Amino acid sequence: MRFDILTILPGMFDGPFRESIIKRAIDRGLIEIGIHNIRDFATDRHRSTDDYPYGGGAGMVMLSGPIFAAAEHAIAEADALRPHPRRSIILTTPQGRLLNQRIVEELATLDHLVIVCGHYEGVDERVQEHLATDEISIGDYVLTGGEIPAMVIVDAVSRLVPGVVGQPASLAEESLTSGLLEYPHYTRPAEFRGWTVPEILLSGNHAAIARWRRQQALRRTWERRPDLLATAPLTPADRRFLEELRAESAPRSMAPSASRVTDGDAER
Ligand code: SAM
Repeated sequence: MRFDILTILPGMFDGPFRESIIKRAIDRGLIEIGIHNIRDFATDRHRSTDDYPYGGGAGMVMLSGPIFAAAEHAIAEADALRPHPRRSIILTTPQGRLLNQRIVEELATLDHLVIVCGHYEGVDERVQEHLATDEISIGDYVLTGGEIPAMVIVDAVSRLVPGVVGQPASLAEESLTSGLLEYPHYTRPAEFRGWTVPEILLSGNHAAIARWRRQQALRRTWERRPDLLATAPLTPADRRFLEELRAESAPRSMAPSASRVTDGDAER
């Protein structure tokens, strides 16, 4: 999988891509990341990448010329290494498709993502109309630039590239991948400040642990993201358990974390 990021702030990527799993994936040749400074493709002597909006109004708009040139350069460079038949040119924008795990899975089937990072009021509309093949938002809020969204896309998609994450089984159970939120995790010590690990996890009974985890995942999803249950693949046993939960009580509200720790602890 190859990523090419078009940005006016290339230095922002120094940290995130030089640490941990993404760095190892690059070092092992599982993913490639090209960072392209849009300013290098400016054509005037000031190396401008933005200008005032036609029609007036606040803020600046990023010029289409340097973005098109940077994208064409990145694509030619990538294809010189090897052809990339499954490519998407993604414009980061709060107006785009709201990123979720399904979209991440869809992007992971491609072999080249070119990601355009906007700034100011955004980019000239002709980038959206004639260059971008996809538009992605990472959430219903407005950021100062597209660099953090680009990092989010690279990180989330890279995890799905075979070999990047050590244990493929952990990917399958991950929150949202399975259609549910994941069950809670504990590690040593078995007792911390008087709070104990649920007994079942220490039992060594793998079937019982698997059942407990499934029920915890169902309970969490029901409490926190009931919308996911409409599309999650559920077994007859899952449905029965959810019926029991519904019969037990109305959904708990998301209380502040301190009281939730106490509630959850008491329940177990
Ligand atoms: N004026 C634009 C609008 O109302 O849609 C917002 C521009 S925003 C201040 C500047 C840039 O940050 C955008 O061009 C985009 O690249 C990026 N950006 C901001 N919020 C984003 C989000 N939620 N998802 C993806 N990109 C975002």
